[in-house]
Amino acid sequence: MHILKMIPFSVLCAGIFMSPAWSASAQDIRYVVIDPGHTPLKYGATGASGTVEFDYNTRFSHELAVALEKEQIPFIFSNVKNPELSLTDRVRLTNKNSLFIAIHHDSVQQGYCNISYDPCITDYAAGYSLFVSERNPYFRASADFAKKIARDIRRQGIHPSIHHGEHIPHENRKLLDESGVYQFDDLIVLKHASSPAVLIEIGVITNPGDERNINLKSYRSKIIGSIVKALKAVMDLRK
Ligand SMILES: [Zn+2]
Repeated sequence: MHILKMIPFSVLCAGIFMSPAWSASAQDIRYVVIDPGHTPLKYGATGASGTVEFDYNTRFSHELAVALEKEQIPFIFSNVKNPELSLTDRVRLTNKNSLFIAIHHDSVQQGYCNISYDPCITDYAAGYSLFVSERNPYFRASADFAKKIARDIRRQGIHPSIHHGEHIPHENRKLLDESGVYQFDDLIVLKHASSPAVLIEIGVITNPGDERNINLKSYRSKIIGSIVKALKAVMDLRK
């Protein structure tokens, strides 16, 4: 079980479960690197309620970890040793036998915010989205994995956000699949990962309605269920 050698002792002490009964699939994906986006100091976007993105990313990442543990899918957090890690450090634990999932919550560009409010509040955009980079060495596998997740989320009745495809500066992302998968080649964590890599935006926290959804356990469970289902499809988890 060589994978155990690369898991810091502190992770094991934190109660994170490593399956003893696992074997490689054709793609040889053996473990997942969960990357809770941003840091306590650089916390990302601020939600309509004032809750910051890093807190949402952390909660979702831990709930995903619990689900993976239940399914005996090996995983590790990118930020376990250093909560203030750099973007390139986030992918330090990836290799061809891993799969990298960055967890984020979305916002919109400043121009769409209601200027009467701080933080930004707007109903301009809502829904989940996923990103992959063609500069990742496993672009095709990344895109296939992202589509599996996105199509299953949509099948459950949740709509993708389409605002990243808008033809304006800093958006204009290529929509690879209408279930909400975009190509964003310069996302640092995606292009530097040594494994298939996806970034998922769980919902748009600047939208009060979407932020309410994000705070529903049932909404998060649907998305987590889709991620787990996609992982089980690309990993061979023999019991
Ligand atoms: Zn983010």
